[in-house]
Amino acid sequence: MTASRVLVLNSGSSSVKYQLLDMADSSRLAVGLVERIGEETSRLTHEPLTGPGAAGGKRVTEGPIADHAAALRAVSAELAADGLGLDSPELAAVGHRVVHGGTKFTHPTLIDDAVLAEIRALIPLAPLHNPANVTGIEVARELRPDLPQVAVFDTAFHSTMPEHVARYAIDAATADKYSIRRYGFHGTSHAYVARATARLLGKAEEDVNVIVLHLGNGASASAVHGGVCVETSMGLTPLEGLVMGTRSGDLDPAVVFHLARVGGMSIDEIDSLLNKKSGLLGLCGDNDMREVQRRAEEGDASARLALASYIHRLKKYIGAYSAVLGRVDAVAFTAGVGENSSQIREMALAGLAELGLALDLEANSVRSPEPRLVSAEYARVAVAVVPTDEELEIASQTYALVTG
Ligand code: ADP
Repeated sequence: MTASRVLVLNSGSSSVKYQLLDMADSSRLAVGLVERIGEETSRLTHEPLTGPGAAGGKRVTEGPIADHAAALRAVSAELAADGLGLDSPELAAVGHRVVHGGTKFTHPTLIDDAVLAEIRALIPLAPLHNPANVTGIEVARELRPDLPQVAVFDTAFHSTMPEHVARYAIDAATADKYSIRRYGFHGTSHAYVARATARLLGKAEEDVNVIVLHLGNGASASAVHGGVCVETSMGLTPLEGLVMGTRSGDLDPAVVFHLARVGGMSIDEIDSLLNKKSGLLGLCGDNDMREVQRRAEEGDASARLALASYIHRLKKYIGAYSAVLGRVDAVAFTAGVGENSSQIREMALAGLAELGLALDLEANSVRSPEPRLVSAEYARVAVAVVPTDEELEIASQTYALVTG
């Protein structure tokens, strides 16, 4: 029997999301989530999608789960109850989502002690994310020391950005000393969506230029030239670029000096303001796009402003990336907002006929879990809606690496 299963782990600071996939047919065997790790009210939601357990649907267990080690043990027990345990000989590898790979990691990487030390060394670049990723890896290695563990980095797909794109125009020695450059994030999603878009157009990835708009709670755009990322909107951290649920995206860096000097705010307070209390939330008090749209519809002025600001930024990036790519074959929308909101797609592309962009309004209004084209027949540039699947992409990259 060939081991063809991959367990994908996405460890956050207080949560672990997981999926068990069978790469023989890319099917999902089980999915789940541990939330509020370290609190009294932790919760494990496990859903077997195959075998005898599947008929029972989701199983929810509530009660304290002290740390990531306990969380993974609990996940392991749930999987084992469905005959899908970590000790199964059919498990080929564990694929870990790792947020920051710095300049060091540009490809999925088999984890050993040295690699783990390097990921740990990158914590200053991603203090909110990499520590949890490291813990997830440590715990999974303890549970199955013999099993290949692979790190798949959110930054990797963007490592092909040319130097003049990745560099900030600041003193080069200072930038080098502190590893300051644009890294980009959501790379696994951008890679998956760019490839799926080429497939949708019936073309080879090398022959297609795509602008990918990943619009979730976090949001980023990328310009992908023949399958290679040449520009993306997030930078040193996920703060740069589009207006997001709670992040400001682009702003004059002098805003930070002003808040410190005139507002007397500490660096941590400004960090929290820009990452957690800005974007849609800062502009109108809601970060859920559905709520913003509902309020805007009712005529709420601040929700309308937030929506207009969100759309304006999106248009600027579509225009900029059209210029960067020269020829654009497709614009692809993905993630929670991009996949589900026909209104956001319509607003973002309104008035862009000169760039070759026009929607088929009827096709755009259809909701579907399938990748699809929603552009007008006459439009020069295709518009695609492509549900992203980061777990499948992580599993595919992991499996490809361990099976050589
Ligand atoms: P995350 O970045 O947390 O992975 P998601 O990709 O799940 O985010 O996207 C979350 C966002 O998607 C939320 O802001 C939510 O409001 C938005 N969203 C989900 N469904 C819709 C919809 N039908 N219309 C507009 N926005 C939606």
